[in-house]
Amino acid sequence: MKLLTATDATQGYRDNDFDWCVEGELVHIGVVCARDRDDPDGGCGCGRAFAGLNSHRATTTAMVREIEGFTEADYVEAIRSSLEQQGYDASYAEHEAAELRILVRDWPVGAIVERRLDEIVVRQVVQP
Ligand SMILES: [Zn+2]
Repeated sequence: MKLLTATDATQGYRDNDFDWCVEGELVHIGVVCARDRDDPDGGCGCGRAFAGLNSHRATTTAMVREIEGFTEADYVEAIRSSLEQQGYDASYAEHEAAELRILVRDWPVGAIVERRLDEIVVRQVVQP
């Protein structure tokens, strides 16, 4: 299935880009703090970032990748355990997994996306 993953591709396109994630790890769309709530270019950075499910770190660039053998149940479990490890309410994991699947559905594998608060937009499409 197609999944949203961390990438360092296109880093530097914006001068406030950053990538502290592990290349290829699954990411989700984390909560934005009060400081950055109205500004994707805010001082914290969470308004323009995706959150790594394993590293619990952040990146401003994510890539749609096809991950063979990965199931919807695996995806829910990955999100659930990540939320739990970070002390968040994991009961939204299923909902979040569904939203992320819908988000990437119409994008090709190799699409690099960025986040502007609640909007996720394609920055570039690369050969996977
Ligand atoms: Zn923040």
